[in-house]
Amino acid sequence: MPARLVTVFAFLNTCDLRTFGGREPDDELAEWLGTCEPAEYELAFALRRTLRAMARANRTGELDPGVATEFDRVSAALPLRARSNGDGGLGAGAANGGIAGTLADVLASVVVASADGSWVRMKECAAPDCRWIFYDHAKPRNSRWCSTAGCGNRMKTRAYRSRTA
Ligand SMILES: [Zn+2]
Repeated sequence: MPARLVTVFAFLNTCDLRTFGGREPDDELAEWLGTCEPAEYELAFALRRTLRAMARANRTGELDPGVATEFDRVSAALPLRARSNGDGGLGAGAANGGIAGTLADVLASVVVASADGSWVRMKECAAPDCRWIFYDHAKPRNSRWCSTAGCGNRMKTRAYRSRTA
């Protein structure tokens, strides 16, 4: 996974919906953010929801209705600036600090990754009892599971059982 997506990956997976193997769903957004105002938490929650929906669309090819509008709303609330890298190249990053700045940096990473082609590899696992966000390393970019040996096998076994039942 490109270094710029490591923080994005951690942010998106603060929403842990994995229930296979007796797991309980977990949400660590509050811990990830640290001390923050309710409005900042709402903003972080909305950013995570829209980016997770986009990561799902990276796998399915279909974006849920309303996501683009919500993305625009969240993005407009974040202090994101284009900046010069000093070598003629351009990048993006937060214009100031705090929670909004942290979120703006996450968004900046996604925007840059979207331009360099790595964002489309961030996907939501197709297993309904997993939905972990993973980076698709496969050259043809056709992975559906966060783990072929784990979720892939479990889903194939389940499909086989339902066909032969
Ligand atoms: Zn999975």
